[in-house]
This record gives sequence, structure tokens and C-alpha cells, in this order.
Amino acid sequence: MKVDGITKPVTLGIIRSDYMLDSEGTVKHLDDMVLWQVELNTIAASFGGVASKMLSLHRHVLRSAGLHHLIDLMPDNNPIAGIADAIICARKLYKNPQALVLLVCHEFERNVFDQNCLHYILQERDVPFVRKTFAELDQQARLDDKRSLYIGQKEVAVVYYRTGYDPQQYDEVAWRVRRILERSLAACCPDIPTQLAGTKKVQQKLTSPDELSSLGLSGTCIARLQQTFTTIHGLDEGEEGDMAVQKALANPDQYVLKPQREGGGNNLYDEDMVRVLTSGRDGERGMDRAAYILMHRFRPPSSRNVVICPGAPCHVQPCVSELGVFGSYVRCGTEMILNNCCGHLLRSKSLALKDGGVMAGNAALNNPCLVPMSAQPLLKL
Ligand code: ADP
Ligand code: MG
Repeated sequence: MKVDGITKPVTLGIIRSDYMLDSEGTVKHLDDMVLWQVELNTIAASFGGVASKMLSLHRHVLRSAGLHHLIDLMPDNNPIAGIADAIICARKLYKNPQALVLLVCHEFERNVFDQNCLHYILQERDVPFVRKTFAELDQQARLDDKRSLYIGQKEVAVVYYRTGYDPQQYDEVAWRVRRILERSLAACCPDIPTQLAGTKKVQQKLTSPDELSSLGLSGTCIARLQQTFTTIHGLDEGEEGDMAVQKALANPDQYVLKPQREGGGNNLYDEDMVRVLTSGRDGERGMDRAAYILMHRFRPPSSRNVVICPGAPCHVQPCVSELGVFGSYVRCGTEMILNNCCGHLLRSKSLALKDGGVMAGNAALNNPCLVPMSAQPLLKL
């Protein structure tokens, strides 16, 4: 896709697709449960770095607790290696072999340790790397007459956004910088079309088989996707939107109301959802119904677990989990150069909490144990 008359020579995507089991709240046989997609993250999909460290931490904990039989049941996981490979591949395809990788970060970055995991791999592989905020880039980034991107004297091959997913992150400066980066020849992860593809509105549209078919997907492929795409209603003004609102008001506990936001902590449930849908107001602002989607609410099976948080007492409690799967791709025009599944992220939270999100303070990083059905007794710790 051309943005402002420019086609990027290289496209880089780093994504994470998140899933939850739905068991209507009861523990069932795995075959009776469905793994539904919660959302697709196409910008700043985080925790690939820290998730890669969690495995050795949990193996250490299990060893210390004498639970050796569980150690090998945790599958290997190193998503940051695949993420770094994709970034390095995109940089190699860029015209200047000396060019930098630029990570665009928040001004007050809380997730720096996750980003450092990437930095260390790039450093080991002699890939020059810089982290800059929008404000710093406003002072330092420029395009030459061929639209090559420079920070000072250094050319940039890859722009990797770890900010820029929330409207609050965009002031006049950020918009100005985003425009420069997007118009440059550097591979932007994500570019604007890819970022938009990760919106909840697009996720809702893709639950329609007609939309999937218009993308040229085969019937078999559509049927497979529909096995993970749950019911999502649009709330645009009109008859369909009105019907969706009626369904939500009749059974609020069966739905989640989601605004077009990323980063966790934005969804509305139960009485909050009803309040917004009935008053037509979202806090101080008038509610723009079309800016929300209404999603079937999953009831994942719970298991006993301990969430370790600074400053909070540890106790065993029922927890539910969400599985994220990392993917990366590099494309030159229509030619796919690399397309990999890089690893996973398991996040668990107390059953008592509705919304998830590690940075939002709700969920904690975890690891799955893959237990054959025949070995169920092993699960008894
Ligand atoms: P965000 O882009 O803000 O991360 P998500 O769609 O991932 O938005 O929702 C945030 C969290 O809310 C998820 O991590 C999950 O814990 C919970 N959640 C989202 N969708 C559902 C759903 N359909 N059913 C139950 N919980 C959900
Ligand atoms: Mg999410």
C-alpha cells in the first residue's frame, strides 16, 4: 500500500495473537473447549523478551519445590530470538548495510527490560540499535531528498514502535514524527495499514465469512478461521447496532464492550457496560456507539495458582489464563521472505478480575505445562 505516494521496499510485521479457552466457567474435557481469539496485536506486541526469561525462572522454581516431573512439560519458548531474526532480516534487505534499527519508546518507559532483551541480541549480532522518544525524534530525525531516514548522520533501516498505539500518545509532535517515519524508506513495524488491521473494528469485520471471502480466502480456510473467531457485533447506528445493544442489555454477563483502544484496562463489563449503553454517555464524553464493538464474553476454566506481585501478599487463588502466540514476517512487495511463529506468552490473572493486561497491573507472566490427557494425575501438585 502506498502512503503519501511512497511504497516501502521492505515490510516488517511483529504480531501477537491472543487466545482464551471458553468453558462457560466450568472445567471440562479439553476436547469440549474452544480456543477463541481475544485480539490480534499488530503494534508494540510486548513481552517477547521477558517471556523468553520466564521459562528458566519457572524451571528454577519447580526444581526448588521438588516438582521435577513438571519441568519437561513446559515447552521451550524463546520468542525474542524470532523477533530479533525478523528485525535483522528486514535490515539486511535495506539498501544500506550500515543502517540502524530504531526503537520508538515512551518517554517514561516501564517495560524497558523487555526491550533490553532485544537490544542485547542485536548487540551480540553487531546490529546498531537506538531507542528514541517521539520528542527526541522531533529534534533529530529527518528525511533526505530520496526519503531515506536519518538520525543525525546515521541512516535508519527499521523503525520498531513500542509506543504509538494509544491516542493519548499522540500530541502534535508525535503526529509530526509519525508522518516523517511513515513517509521514509525505512521498514516501519508496523506501517499504518498494518496498525489499522489490528483494530477491534477490523477484527469484528473479519468475523463475517463474506469479508474473509472478499480477501480471496478459500472456504476451508474461512471455516478454520471461524473456529477461533467468536461472535463480535458492530454497534454502528442502525438496525443491526440497535439489535446488538438489546442483546447486551438482555444478558450483560455474556458480553464485553470494547472501545477501539490498545494496552489493556479499557473494556467495559456488566453494570459498567449497561450504564454506558443505556445512558448513551461514556463518562464526560458523549458515547460514539460506532467506536465500540460488542464481543462474546469468554469464561475460561480456572486453576489454582499464585500471582506474585510486589507489595501484595501471595496466596493460592483461582486463576484464568490467556495464551498469546508471537508471529513475525518480512515482505518485499508481494514476496514473503520470512513468516514465522516465534513462541508464546501465557498470562494468568485472578478469576476475580475481569480485564487482563500485565502493564495494567492485572495479569502476571506464566508458562504453560503441556500435560497429556493420559497423565492427568500429574497435575495434582
Ligand atoms: P487490549 O487491546 O486493551 O489489550 P483486549 O481485547 O486484549 O484489549 O482485552 C483486554 C483483556 O480483557 C484481555 O487480556 C482479557 O483478559 C480480557 N478480555 C478481552 N476480551 C474478552 C472476552 N471476550 N471475554 C473475556 N475476557 C476478555
Ligand atoms: Mg490485549
